[in-house]
Amino acid sequence: MAAKQRSPVSTAELIVRKREGGKLTKQEIDRMIAGFMNGTVADYQMSALAMAVYFQGMDFEETVDMTLAMRDSGRVLSFEELDAPKVDKHSTGGVGDKVSICLAPIVAACGVTVPMISGRGLGHTGGTLDKLEAIPGFRVDLTVRELRAQLRKVGCALIGQTGDLAPADKRLYALRDVTGTVESIPLITSSILSKKLAEGIDALVLDVKVGRGAFMKSESDARELARSLVRVGTLAGKRVSALLTDMNSPIGYTIGNALETREALEILHGEGPHELRELTYALAVEMLRAAGIAKTKSQARRRIELAVKDGSALLKMRRIVEAQGGDPKVVDTPDRLAVAPYRSTIRATKDGYIAGIDPLALGYVSMGLGAGRVRAEDAVDSGAGVHLHVQLGDWIRAGDPLATLYSSERALLRPGAGRATRSIRIAKRRPTVRDRIMATIRR
Ligand code: URA
Repeated sequence: MAAKQRSPVSTAELIVRKREGGKLTKQEIDRMIAGFMNGTVADYQMSALAMAVYFQGMDFEETVDMTLAMRDSGRVLSFEELDAPKVDKHSTGGVGDKVSICLAPIVAACGVTVPMISGRGLGHTGGTLDKLEAIPGFRVDLTVRELRAQLRKVGCALIGQTGDLAPADKRLYALRDVTGTVESIPLITSSILSKKLAEGIDALVLDVKVGRGAFMKSESDARELARSLVRVGTLAGKRVSALLTDMNSPIGYTIGNALETREALEILHGEGPHELRELTYALAVEMLRAAGIAKTKSQARRRIELAVKDGSALLKMRRIVEAQGGDPKVVDTPDRLAVAPYRSTIRATKDGYIAGIDPLALGYVSMGLGAGRVRAEDAVDSGAGVHLHVQLGDWIRAGDPLATLYSSERALLRPGAGRATRSIRIAKRRPTVRDRIMATIRR
């Protein structure tokens, strides 16, 4: 006798089950995501499910199923015709985080293919695409065909997400953003990994930020997110590792698009801030090891240092910029990147040590100067931002410059200056300066 067909549970029943702490099967998750995409599951139902997940969580199996369902909601790329290992890096977002711009060419110069797909800035965090667009002519909107051709020719491309990669995530993220359901570890895991798994990479290195400027404020939450990302990514067949990195002060001296791109390019010249170089190299080491190009940390580190020293990383960046329509002269002379015409310097009001530089406040200052956007469709002022003159632990005297603010609108400088001054704390005691890299998380 034929088995009796069970009628599927309704969307409302699935939401209630999750609300009560129950588990959803793979078929049910697939059905929710497919329904969300074809309109049979309404936005309000998907939002309700997101809120139920926010409170009740998802177990590991459900998170994997959610990730794969969202990955498969669109095109899944494959670059199997390219022999070199394909590795990307993803950061959960911070302030002054310009690492991708120097990391990608360094790693590509070491023989890894890097299809780096980045995002735009939103809120207090900057976005790699906005920073790259400070380079005159630079195009981030390559088609998949152009991306494939560039990876073959140059070994690296720095681009934005095409609309057809994990479209379910794009729609769900927009709902989460306005329904208070962003800060959920299973939802963040499936959101990040669905996009990354659709990119045709073999391995992924994650930079999970923790602290005031990150959206994981506590170390235990950040660790849990990193573990979840590594576990789900590994189960989906990729080599995934994560660095847990401190985001309690901005990275390097600059915040803002052109300013940050300049600073990232300095790293390729063997210059730039020590801590930016160390963070970039630590992520590069992970990428080289994930690609199987280096067996040990020290082997990887030597290879990376050589790529910067012999100019091959710089040459790689020149080729990337040229291939994407940008002016390659800025790679050789980063100061050619234009900063905004109006500027104001804030100064220390007393002697002491720099004991705190609030990344969240400075992220908002930079945004207020025109460097960031409130809504995804807003334009940005690529020359606006903040150039710090100090780092944590520096000794300064009253009257010394703390930071210079840049904007294309003179009226934006004054409110920014007050807030920037309050965001830099001066104390009598030298603070302990923590290492940016807090832990490495592997399977
Ligand atoms: N970044 C993403 O891509 N998704 C999230 O949910 C959070 C950060």
